[in-house]
Amino acid sequence: MTTVGIPRALLYYQYYPMWKTFFEHLGAEVVVSPPTTRKTLTEGASRVVADTCLPAKVFVGHTVSLVGKCDCIFIPVIRSLKSKTYNCSKFLGLPDMTRAVVPEAPPILEIEIDINRGKRRLYQDIYKLGRHFTWNPLKVKEAATAAWQSLLDYRELMYRRELILPQAMEEITGESQTGLNMILKSQTVPPTTIGLIGHAYLLYDEHINYQLIRRLQQYDATVVTPEMLPGNIIEASVNKLAGKAYWTYEEEVVGAGGHFLESGVDGIIGIMAFGCGPDSLMMDMVHRHATRQKTTPFMCLTLEEHTSETGVITRLEAFMDMIHRRKQKGEAVCV
Ligand code: SF4
Repeated sequence: MTTVGIPRALLYYQYYPMWKTFFEHLGAEVVVSPPTTRKTLTEGASRVVADTCLPAKVFVGHTVSLVGKCDCIFIPVIRSLKSKTYNCSKFLGLPDMTRAVVPEAPPILEIEIDINRGKRRLYQDIYKLGRHFTWNPLKVKEAATAAWQSLLDYRELMYRRELILPQAMEEITGESQTGLNMILKSQTVPPTTIGLIGHAYLLYDEHINYQLIRRLQQYDATVVTPEMLPGNIIEASVNKLAGKAYWTYEEEVVGAGGHFLESGVDGIIGIMAFGCGPDSLMMDMVHRHATRQKTTPFMCLTLEEHTSETGVITRLEAFMDMIHRRKQKGEAVCV
């Protein structure tokens, strides 16, 4: 049986249930790298140039940790998921970068997803990927259909039942998600709601964000995240705030940010990686809108490998104190 390794980084958070279903339907075994640790990050950072963004360094570290544990590593190239929207260049070169900086890695299994090339090409690429496991096109089709259904179920768990991503992941895959930001206690009528915006690989990797969601829960805050919003709402919000989306994952930042500003959350925290071009533009757009709106406090946390935990905690404390004081007084605060 072929063992397919999947690095627990970048698009793992959005698509792991789909990938796992696809490969398992084709008779493969799937292994995922363990949750991020200091060693993962140090290893990844030591192999790439310093100004590579933090999530890409984490990705390389996870790939290194899979060496010797699998027959191949799955690294998809997601170029575009919607007409004329494009992904960050880091995703486009991921397999090539990995081959260059982790030469000891087993063969890389890749597929390029670019909706602009048409559905026919997409289906051909899926069959090409499936051919590594079977020559039977019907089996590949069945695996792809089951995988797509699994993605829909996963998303539905998040936006219908409002499960936070790690809970949905645990429910759908049956695998424990230690190391991701989990909700530790159930909350009834919480006093404070905080909207988190940013990419899933920043929001849910507890090592790089210093357990942000757990810390917010210690303030009795309910956390709402982009995955909890239905696609049509988030898309409408992007259109309103930015006109037309250009970046593939613009919805996680601009769409969710715009929606949270209108839906009356008590505060918004934007998480971005240092040196990320797309995020600095998108986060700035939401920040400007929040400043104009003058009713919803907004804070942006920028993460890199040298970010101090104390610095993150101090900023979080100050932000939450300000929100609590504001709520007690019932007054508007311009941020
Ligand atoms: S969007 Fe930003 S953080 Fe994500 S991979 Fe690209 S540069 Fe890195």
